[in-house]
Order: sequence, then structure tokens, then C-alpha cells
Amino acid sequence: MAELRPADVVAADLCIGCGGCAGAGAMGWDRVGQLKPERPDAIQGEAFARTCPFSPDAVDENAIADARFPAAPVADTRIGRFEAAYVGHVAEGEFRAGGSSGGMVSWVAAELLRRGLVEGVAHVAPADPDADGRFFGYRLSRSVAEVQAGARSRYYPVELSSVLAEIRAVPGRYAIVGVPCFIKAVHLARAAEPVLAERITHTLGLFCGHMKSARLVDSFAWQLEVPIEDVAAVEYRQKNADRPANWYTAHLTLRDGSARWQDWWHLADGDWGAGYFQNPACDYCDDVVAETADIAFGDAWVEPYSSDGRGTNVVIVRDPALAAIVREAIEGERLTLEPVDADFIANTQAAGLRHRREGLSWRLRHYPPRLPLRKRVAPGGGDLPLRRKWVYRVRRWIARASHRLAWMARATGWHAIYLVPARLALKNYQRLAWPKPK
Ligand SMILES: Cc1cc2nc3c(=O)[nH]c(=O)nc-3n(C[C@H](O)[C@H](O)[C@H](O)COP(=O)(O)OP(=O)(O)OC[C@H]3O[C@@H](n4cnc5c(N)ncnc54)[C@H](O)[C@@H]3O)c2cc1C
Repeated sequence: MAELRPADVVAADLCIGCGGCAGAGAMGWDRVGQLKPERPDAIQGEAFARTCPFSPDAVDENAIADARFPAAPVADTRIGRFEAAYVGHVAEGEFRAGGSSGGMVSWVAAELLRRGLVEGVAHVAPADPDADGRFFGYRLSRSVAEVQAGARSRYYPVELSSVLAEIRAVPGRYAIVGVPCFIKAVHLARAAEPVLAERITHTLGLFCGHMKSARLVDSFAWQLEVPIEDVAAVEYRQKNADRPANWYTAHLTLRDGSARWQDWWHLADGDWGAGYFQNPACDYCDDVVAETADIAFGDAWVEPYSSDGRGTNVVIVRDPALAAIVREAIEGERLTLEPVDADFIANTQAAGLRHRREGLSWRLRHYPPRLPLRKRVAPGGGDLPLRRKWVYRVRRWIARASHRLAWMARATGWHAIYLVPARLALKNYQRLAWPKPK
């Protein structure tokens, strides 16, 4: 599709909002709280068709990983090519306490800076909502302290346009942290632009269930009964070493310095798997574990780790040089990591993989994407149990309805328009989805 334009991807509900196609600052909010290119005709034609991660003409994750990790000893259909895989956490410093899980992302980013392997790390840190209406954004950190200050997971729309512009403008070597489709976008941009290929030397991937819209923060504010204008800072999962890691707490800091918080399971939309505010493009993604990243990180969502409130990572190392750095740090007792196999990692992401494999197969057949995407999963799912098909159907409905109802709730100021049906839908979804299949 040589004439593919960003507007076509947006119209097909397949724009993830990564900002790879936009000039710096040329991304803005759509009406449901997702970032979209403001001038969707800025790049078009062949260059865009090759670099958009949801373009039918972009190479897939297998092709990128085969080229980047040709000698990887293991190639697994669920978690990709890799050198080594681990479960554990950072032993040294405050990385674990400061991170969302075991602190490994911030540690690897810091180690790359400490060893002089990169001069900057592009990652996501709190932003000033007064400055550009965003609670979080990508920035380039150039010191360990800055990297640590940006730790923790932000389930919020972010985009790469300004950090890519800075990398183009300022010579140096850079690492980029991102969810799987963003890392894919970075590799596609590297393939198209020699300057990015030379300067972006390391990619750090986050496992990903799906991306949320900015409306999740509005919903927190509605449920905690504070005006969104009074919110100064957001934490999606406040850490508490005394409680299981998977008991998320949403936490808002207000402008007057006070705070409000609530456990996710008391929230109308507090079940990650139900898909509230999910970007529709995520329904057509088949990469859970950042298969194209040099190293990828997730949460160890299996016992005994999920009950350990201090947080535990699973880590997949795909690049041999990073594998050596990690091995050396384990030997030096700076990292507490145990080797694990592909089954162990896949098990920690069982729900995400089900949604992106059998669920994707079913969606490709029943709700084909509006552009002819090439996926690594074939349309099918006809033989799934009826209940599973309903789980996928209801998740899709929740994702779409949550965008529309929250838009109406925001426009009218009548929050019950969203909250009442959201609560009802969650009850019904949980009846259908639990217990989870083995
Ligand atoms: C949208 C999203 C969905 C996720 N889904 C899953 C999942 O299904 N399963 C799973 O196991 N893990 C998932 N994760 C990853 C998980 O939340 C942790 O980020 C991961 O385990 C790393 O924890 P850590 O303690 O090592 O990282 P930390 O030391 O806390 O560092 C996190 C790093 O990631 C950066 N960062 C935070 N948010 C973003 C973002 N949106 N985009 C780019 N960089 C960011 C921060 O700036 C920081 O550098 C998801 C993360 C995100 C952002």
C-alpha cells in the first residue's frame, strides 16, 4: 500500500499513537483521550507504509528479531528469540523499592549509562499537566538519578515524536524503553533512517497487556470524587511491600498536597483484563513480550512471586552483550535472578498470550481489521468453547463502550453515564471470565 497515509490507519482504528510518523509536538488528543497525529498527512506513501507498526507493509516481529538476534539459541513461538530468561529482582540500591516490579528496567537503563554504553535513555516520566495537558511523557534522561526518578509503569498514552527529534538532532548513543509496538516502531524507523540506526543502540521492551487511554485517570478522579483539574500526579500501582504485588492501588496526588487512593478491585473498571479504555489497535497485536527488544521485562505473575509485594520481574535477554552484563551482575550479587525457561515466562503472561493468540485468531475471523494486516496468527477460533468466545466479545464491547460513555460523562459532567454501566459490565464480565482456563 504505497499510498498509505496516517489518516488511513487512524480511520481504521489501528493507530496506537506512537508518534513515529509525526514531527516533534505534532501529536494531540482525540476526543476519547488517545494520542493521534495532528497532521496525519505529514508523512505518507512508501516511507510511512514501511515504518508504521500497524501498516500492512511493515515487516513483522519475526523478521525484525531474526535479523537482530540471528544467533539466539532459543526461538519460542510465544516469547520469541532469546539468549537467557530469568525471574528475580535488583539486589543493589533502591531500584526494586522504586520500581513497579523488581526494578530491572531502571537498573539496566542505569547500567548502560554507568558503563558509558549510552549517553541518554528515552523513557516515560511524570509531566506537568499544566504545560501540555499530559500527566506523563517520554523524555531523555542522561543520569542515573534521572532514570530512577522516572521509574514505574505508566498506563497512559505517550508518544515518541519529541525524543526521536532530539536523537536526530543531538549526536550520541541512546537506549529506548517502550511497549512492544513502540519498540517495533523504533526498529522500523531505524531501518528507514541511518541516523537513528546509528544512534539508537539499545532497546528495552516492556511486556504489554494493552494500552489505556487518558480517560482511566478521569475515571479514577470521578471515583475518588475529586475534580480532574485538581490532580497533580498519578500512580497506577502504588507499591506496598506488605501486600501482594498484584493488588494494585490507584493513587492521586492533588495540587494542595493531599492524596486520594483506592484499590483497583473496588473500582468500576478495576480489572485489567476486562479491557476498559483499551486502544482498539491492541486487539490486532500479537506481541506480548517485546519480541524485537534487546531485553524485555515483565511482572512475575505466578506464585510465590505475585504474593510478594516487593515486586518481582521476569526478564528475557535477547542480545548477547546485554546477556553478559546481566550474568556478570548476577555473579557480583548486584542482581538476584534465577534462570527460567520459556514455559515459565509464558505462564506468567498466560492471560495476555491467550488474548493475543487464540483471541486474536477469533477476532481476525469475526472482526477482520479494516486494513489487510499481516499477522503471525491465522484467522480461526471456530472451535473455541462458547464461553471463551463470549469473553472475547464482551472485552471488545467493554473497550469500545468505555471510550464512548466516558466521553459522554466528561462532556456532560454526569459521571454516572460511565460509572453505572462500567460497574455492571465488570460484574457480568467477571462472571463469564472466572475461573480462568488452565
Ligand atoms: C502499558 C503497559 C502495559 C503493561 N502490561 C504488562 C503485562 O501485561 N504483563 C507484564 O508482566 N508487564 C506489563 N507491563 C510492564 C510492567 O508494568 C513493568 O513495567 C515491568 O515489569 C518493569 O518493571 P520494573 O520494576 O523492572 O521497571 P521500573 O524500574 O519501574 O521502570 C519502568 C520503566 O519503564 C518506563 N515506562 C513506564 N511506562 C512506560 C510506557 N508507557 N512506555 C514506555 N516506557 C514506560 C519508565 O520510565 C521506567 O524507565 C506493562 C507496562 C506498560 C507501560
